[in-house]
Amino acid sequence: MKNNCIFCQIIEGQAPSEIVFENERVIVFKDHLPRSPIHLLVCPKTHYSDFLNTPPEEVTYLFKVCHALADKLKVESGFRLMINNGALAGQIVFHLHIHFISRVKELGAEKLDLVIK
Ligand code: 5GP
Ligand code: ZN
Repeated sequence: MKNNCIFCQIIEGQAPSEIVFENERVIVFKDHLPRSPIHLLVCPKTHYSDFLNTPPEEVTYLFKVCHALADKLKVESGFRLMINNGALAGQIVFHLHIHFISRVKELGAEKLDLVIK
């Protein structure tokens, strides 16, 4: 955990969030300023500041989680994945995360039971 990192605080349960999935390695929660009916943030539980400072195998795992999200939410007709790397790209939280965005449907309040392959 990195002090004063808001996503580390969410992971530790020290800041509120709407968590839709978590396991020992990853947490997925709703963006608090959603730009689409589905706007999730997929974060490793280990703190990495950005994409370039994250081991490739960790990035691979996060994409597997995104794949499982797409399957579970049945949004194969349209979703976007986005990583902002660096302030000039618009990165504001320096704890790696993938934005999972879709306007195919609304997301309910229920937790998701993901199968990560
Ligand atoms: P970035 O621009 O760094 O890729 O995106 C950070 C995202 O995190 C933004 O979309 C922003 O709305 C979201 N965000 C920032 N702080 C919080 C927070 O405390 N809780 C939640 N749920 N989302 C946050
Ligand atoms: Zn962090």
